[in-house]
Amino acid sequence: MKYETVIGLEVHCQIKTESKLFCPCGTAFGSPPNSNICPICCGHPGVLPVLNRKAAEFLIKTGLAVGCTISKESIFARKQYFYPDLPKAYQISQYEKPLAEHGSLTINGKKIGITRIHLEEDAGKLLHTIGSTELDFSLVDLNRAGIPLMEIVSEPDMRSPQEAVDYLSSLKMILQYLDVSDCDMEKGSLRCDANVSIRPEGSKTFGNRVELKNMNSFRGVKDAIEYEVDRQTRATEAGERINQETRLWDADKQESRPMRSKEQAHDYRYFPEPDLLPLLISDEQISDLRKSIPELPADKRSRFVREYELTEYDANVLTGDKMIAEFFEKSVSHGNKLTKKPVAKMISNWITTDLLGRLNQGNHTMAESPVTAEHLASLVKLIAEETISGKIAKTVFEEMWTNRADPETVVKEKGLVQVMDTGQINGWVDQAIAQNPKIVAEYKGGKERAIGALVGSVMKFSKGQANPELVNKILKEKLASA
Ligand code: ADP
Ligand code: MG
Ligand code: ZN
Repeated sequence: MKYETVIGLEVHCQIKTESKLFCPCGTAFGSPPNSNICPICCGHPGVLPVLNRKAAEFLIKTGLAVGCTISKESIFARKQYFYPDLPKAYQISQYEKPLAEHGSLTINGKKIGITRIHLEEDAGKLLHTIGSTELDFSLVDLNRAGIPLMEIVSEPDMRSPQEAVDYLSSLKMILQYLDVSDCDMEKGSLRCDANVSIRPEGSKTFGNRVELKNMNSFRGVKDAIEYEVDRQTRATEAGERINQETRLWDADKQESRPMRSKEQAHDYRYFPEPDLLPLLISDEQISDLRKSIPELPADKRSRFVREYELTEYDANVLTGDKMIAEFFEKSVSHGNKLTKKPVAKMISNWITTDLLGRLNQGNHTMAESPVTAEHLASLVKLIAEETISGKIAKTVFEEMWTNRADPETVVKEKGLVQVMDTGQINGWVDQAIAQNPKIVAEYKGGKERAIGALVGSVMKFSKGQANPELVNKILKEKLASA
């Protein structure tokens, strides 16, 4: 029997606001435990929540970016549960009427439905000392309690672990372009639960789903789903029933284990939050927010292909990160001021290979690049106008990377200007021919590749400064006539 995998993702994303969702407490990551708290987020009796406007606006922007309908009237709901990290014993969330609904994301040409995006508050964090002290105890840090989250729920439309990862990375990119979240999985500002089930191929009904929690990297999401599909397939083939349950992913052991049987919605006893009025959004607010949406990754990608004649692949790499895309466009626009020669393609190459290569090596982001967009444009101008050879350019780039040097200055100070003077090149070519009789004989004997060694010898004499095309041309002429 062949099985089909069915996946739906619930993504929790921390909305980038300065204060919490219902109180004025700050949201800075890494603050001392329990320093960003007040009676409201600690759930003292008698306090009243006040909605953070920015959080709602950021959610609406996100909803619009993924084609959702924005609810002009949405309501908050209490989701009840008892946990030591949630002193109120309920979480303020949205249930029946979320702020955004019915959107989608297109991944590799396939539409993945987005069921809903709703606002909710985060809970605190527990720290268990088990095994590390004489007395086992747990500590609670309520800094996270009340941090604004948006929960983005997808339809069960994904059919493979890779598709789930592609959806997640595309969603992450959009959130970063919108600047509504840091999306840092390590700091918990982007969390994902994966719902996984299998069904016989061709079947129209869904199987029971298992909810996987605790993945904190793309790799983790993929591994956890793969493991789960395998586990469910084996269980089903052994005649077992798949129970609806929540399982925890353990990245170290590369396995998941059951956490609890899945609660049903009615277990939470949802009811409308009596301390908050329905959230009313006007058409004008929606259209203002729509206008504030920047160009999104997919549009930028196709524009890069069209406008700069880049390959899909390069455009993809450059738009994979908003900062890289900005760096590229800034560099191209600067380069166009410096020279009439085309620069876009070359700048793209230098970014995707040399610059990103170096940055990734040291785990650096574009913001930390010692090479500026202007300097890269100058370097490309020097190459495009044949002031320096491609080989010398690599040396110049080294200086730019290690010393933040201006390429024009490097070339002047080190005398790296490319030699185009045929008289000078003629001299080096004669020297190379005279010193390598064996190679010359090989070449004349029909081994055309041997010319490479002669070019290398000329380049050595010229300290890498001779123009390689001229060297090639002159060498061939001389060898043919000699
Ligand atoms: P809950 O909060 O109880 O997990 P939600 O409605 O928030 O419920 O999320 C349900 C998620 O599970 C959605 O992403 C949905 O696409 C997914 N899902 C529902 N049924 C299945 C199924 N049979 N297999 C895989 N995923 C499913
Ligand atoms: Mg869930
Ligand atoms: Zn507070």
